Amino acid sequence: MERRINGHTGLLALFGTPVGHSGSPAMYNFSFQHDGLDYAYMAFDVNVEQMPAVFDSIRLFKMRGGNFTMPCKNIAAELVDKLSPAAEIIGACNVFVNDDGVITGHITDGIGFMQALKDNDIDVIGKKMTIAGAGGAATAIEIQAALDGVKEISIFNIHDKFWANAEETVRKINEKTDCKATLYDLDDKEKLREEMADSYIFVNGTGVGMKPLEGMSVVPDKSFFRPELIVVDVPYSPLETKMRSMAKEVGCKTMNGLGMMLFQGAAAFKLWTG
Ligand code: NAD
Repeated sequence: MERRINGHTGLLALFGTPVGHSGSPAMYNFSFQHDGLDYAYMAFDVNVEQMPAVFDSIRLFKMRGGNFTMPCKNIAAELVDKLSPAAEIIGACNVFVNDDGVITGHITDGIGFMQALKDNDIDVIGKKMTIAGAGGAATAIEIQAALDGVKEISIFNIHDKFWANAEETVRKINEKTDCKATLYDLDDKEKLREEMADSYIFVNGTGVGMKPLEGMSVVPDKSFFRPELIVVDVPYSPLETKMRSMAKEVGCKTMNGLGMMLFQGAAAFKLWTG
């Protein structure tokens, strides 16, 4: 470390709470060292009320960039100078870049998801996607997929606190992109079967399958799958879920959430370092 950090080292950081468990400092510091880049990445535990002071610090310390995590992603989008198209539509950002005092907010979760598909030779452009979820991860995927040229998105969610967000996402996609989005109740399993039947890809963008919802699936049984359907999980712990093991039994190509996580980080790294 004493050989790595010097008087010129540029600072990047993660802001939010809690941040102590985050893998981001390890991932980015390893990458900076690996690529011989003179940056260091820290994590700072801050709350929403402290975010104006965070932005003063970013400017004062001329930080190159960093990340925002919960609960600071929405307030960050109000405090940056500019927003990427996806971050503007979503009203949240998880990445920022400071170009000589001009701070731009980006959201890389959806970019990471779309890149992970490409990396697996899955081409959704011009096709139909059915997706369960209306939280942070699912919304980022839905907006990015619509911006990138997915033709139609059927969104399913339960009637919980995320329902209003799903309505808002559908409205924004239909208003601001060429994609046609529709919202359905995830409890309407016959509608789910119908929408999955003519979709190219099905995505579980909820926390179902991951602790504390481990062993559960948003798709009730194997009869919903057909071998040509691509089946993707956004959760990545555990790596194998009930939903994907059912899909595999039918012969579907499947993908877990690890690629999305890797490529959202890679997208941020590229924004900071080129
Ligand atoms: P969130 O809390 O913002 O959203 C939760 C979503 O799950 C909502 O749509 C909610 O309605 C749904 N949900 C909750 N309980 C449910 C139930 N019993 N039945 C059906 N739906 C239910 O969470 P998030 O940040 O969007 O994360 C969702 C999942 O994605 C988590 O497992 C998270 O770890 C994972 N994730 C993965 C990546 C990645 O890079 N792969 C990135 C972010 C999040």
